[in-house]
Amino acid sequence: MVCAQRLPFLHWDYFLQGTDLKQVVVLGATGSIGLSTLDVLNRHADRFTLHTITAYRSVKKMLELVLAYEPVQAVMACPDAAEQLASLLPAQSPTRVLGGEQALVDVASASEVDVVMAAIVGFAGLRPTLAAAEHGKRLLLANKEALVSAGSVFMEATRAGGATLLPIDSEHNAMFQCIPANSQGRPQSAGVEKILLTASGGPFRGRSRSQLVAVTPEQACAHPNWSMGRKISVDSATLLNKGLELAEACWLFDCTPDDIDVVVHPQSIIHSLVRYHDGSVLAQLGNPDMRTPIAYGLSWPERIDAGVSPLDLVSVAKLDFEAPDLDAFPCLRLAQEAITQPGGMCVLNAANEVAVAAFLDGQLGFTGIDNVIAHALEEVSSREPENLAAVEALDSRARANAEERIHKLKRDRRGV
Ligand code: NDP
Ligand code: MG
Repeated sequence: MVCAQRLPFLHWDYFLQGTDLKQVVVLGATGSIGLSTLDVLNRHADRFTLHTITAYRSVKKMLELVLAYEPVQAVMACPDAAEQLASLLPAQSPTRVLGGEQALVDVASASEVDVVMAAIVGFAGLRPTLAAAEHGKRLLLANKEALVSAGSVFMEATRAGGATLLPIDSEHNAMFQCIPANSQGRPQSAGVEKILLTASGGPFRGRSRSQLVAVTPEQACAHPNWSMGRKISVDSATLLNKGLELAEACWLFDCTPDDIDVVVHPQSIIHSLVRYHDGSVLAQLGNPDMRTPIAYGLSWPERIDAGVSPLDLVSVAKLDFEAPDLDAFPCLRLAQEAITQPGGMCVLNAANEVAVAAFLDGQLGFTGIDNVIAHALEEVSSREPENLAAVEALDSRARANAEERIHKLKRDRRGV
């Protein structure tokens, strides 16, 4: 049974609190989600102003964005990159440049900020995303790794801070659109029987395990439907992304993995479905373009133009469905197990981040990714982390374990 514990986090009076422009921070502005967010914001200058954009160390990309959008502030998490950016900006630029990780936290919690788009990739986004939750922002959550790693710590921060948590991941945004908002505080009354989480299957759908051994980072990053950053592209190829999304849905919609079925739908037109006790199944459809969920997160409970072309069902013609192949892609099964272990998803996420970085760097084979994760889940014992320090400590232990495992796999490969 799905209950709607997320709904108390929703505040309906967003656009009713006067006509002020909403001040928006885009964490991870140089990335795929960040750029799509800037595109949507740019279409609605009458509703939103760009307060701050952030990046890690992509100075050239950031310079282009600062010149194009002239935000109040630009933050580079890497202090050297901040210095470089400041030196490249014309003297008359209205944008203030800040540097360092604390600056990310400061901008996400600044009192004048209304909306924070959390689009940093990976665990690195946890602190600023949590800060936005603690300070009661409208929090648009793309950075799923932050939520699944910190779990109850994250949800408690959202509750205590009075934040409005809106899912940007296309599947969760679809679920959010298909579960009635009037079930607030009365979870049973929503009548939901099952959530159907769709997966594209990634670029290697249909391959056997042995056909995956020699695949390259370029092949793994060539997603058939979505244009995304490299890390999430690899996660989609291993199906680990679906495991993260399973945990994400459990937190957002207060349910268990048993309440959710994963369905492979190669066209990525249906973004997820919700089945009700009366037999009705509601789905959200659309072209695979992240500007749709981003626009919905920005404007909810209203709707605004996202710049997305209309869905043409006749040219789509066919919608296919199949079960996921857990033998070829064991990462999803590993996540199903990890969700039930205290701290398991934090360990899984950390090991995966290390393994994916090693794969992209040519240090680990594609099928080594699940090997490293399985090993970390076996070896890193944990309790459910109760605060941020405990989450970070567990993440570090899992990373160290994964590094060691990769080192060993490399040594064995060389026959040492
Ligand atoms: P990208 O790799 O395209 O962008 C990542 C962004 O994070 C960049 O701005 C990057 O800056 C910044 N960043 C990277 N490392 C750090 C760090 N250590 N500290 C601060 N900032 C950092 O990622 P995506 O846009 O694809 O994904 C972002 C998040 O959204 C991920 O959590 C992903 O799972 C989620 N998501 C993405 C979807 C998509 O379609 N892309 C769909 C659903 C969810 P720099 O450029 O300087 O490195
Ligand atoms: Mg998704």
